[in-house]
Amino acid sequence: MSPRSTVVGPYDLDRDGLADWLAAGSERRGNAPSYRVDQLWDGLYVQGGPPENWSNLPKALRQRFAEELPPALTEVRRSTGDGGDTVKWLWALHDGATIETVLMVYDDRATVCVSSQAGCAMACGFCATGQDGFTRHLSVGEIVEQVMVARHVSPRRVSNVVFMGMGEPLANYGPTVATLRRLRDDVGLSARHLTVSTVGMVPAIRRLASEELPVGLAISVHAATDALRDELVPINRRHNLESLVDAAIDWREQTGRRVSFEWALIDGVNDTPEQLDALIELADQARAHVNFIPLNPTPGWPTKGTPPAGVRFARERLARAGITVTVRDTRGDDIDAACGQLASRTRGESAVALAAPHRR
Ligand code: SAH
Repeated sequence: MSPRSTVVGPYDLDRDGLADWLAAGSERRGNAPSYRVDQLWDGLYVQGGPPENWSNLPKALRQRFAEELPPALTEVRRSTGDGGDTVKWLWALHDGATIETVLMVYDDRATVCVSSQAGCAMACGFCATGQDGFTRHLSVGEIVEQVMVARHVSPRRVSNVVFMGMGEPLANYGPTVATLRRLRDDVGLSARHLTVSTVGMVPAIRRLASEELPVGLAISVHAATDALRDELVPINRRHNLESLVDAAIDWREQTGRRVSFEWALIDGVNDTPEQLDALIELADQARAHVNFIPLNPTPGWPTKGTPPAGVRFARERLARAGITVTVRDTRGDDIDAACGQLASRTRGESAVALAAPHRR
């Protein structure tokens, strides 16, 4: 990372940054022993949690670290749903912007769903984040810290990270890719268990395919004709379905991994036989996996999710056509933590008032 990269929290520093920080605090500048960097790195990425607990470092150093490099995320609120198996955090950032993170615990592992931006500029009308608009990009440290905090409280090993929280990860390309590398190289997660979800930023998909990072790619398709997709996913006016499917085909060829098409089933809108048949054609061309999810309710969108009978109809129609299809469960909908429900607004409360000065 270049010295000019944004540093708003401890996870924004790379090893050189930590060495500089150590040197700045030592009496004889430039003389901090190099094993200290390894120890700090171990505290941050292996031990995790607050620096006061990092057992291998002198107390004074831990204190200085905690004072000078406090967490980037201040907990505003923590909600739990699904009988404790889903945890959602609302965080305030140093400038008062707010984001959310979701931890989903399963029998044998856990998944963290991270935000890559505060808000989102993509303006998909059915998505709560899109309804709120864009605030700013997140730094590497602000994204990585979401994983580290969730990992610290998770009762199961965090094996998967999905970029399906707030924001469009490929619109925040540099920090997203740097985060993927950090999660793989330092946190020790397998690239195959990291999934980037995109609205369909075609040039960035192509660029990501060339990074030699075999991550999973999910594309939010939601409509199989340009006329409907122009309405539901406005970026389609710039990168149409044909260019998107071409990019998906090339992704598969370049990375050897199939993409998944995300499809929020919207009652009477994209669950019709015509849309489903057009989807079959696209999924067949891209040899993509299709992931259905009945649309979750959001404050600014009147249309409902497809009822269960319609979901079954859609699933069977695709399966009969030979498409691999799954239906995602609505994890977290009891705490507004399900897909598309993350919002920086705190539903009537002021985030600033809630951001009491207690740090994690
Ligand atoms: N910007 C990225 C990632 C964030 S959204 C993207 O668009 O892919 C993660 C997923 O939730 C996307 O597939 C998105 O389209 C979907 N989604 C948004 N609003 C939703 C809603 N109300 N119900 C169900 N899924 C929704």
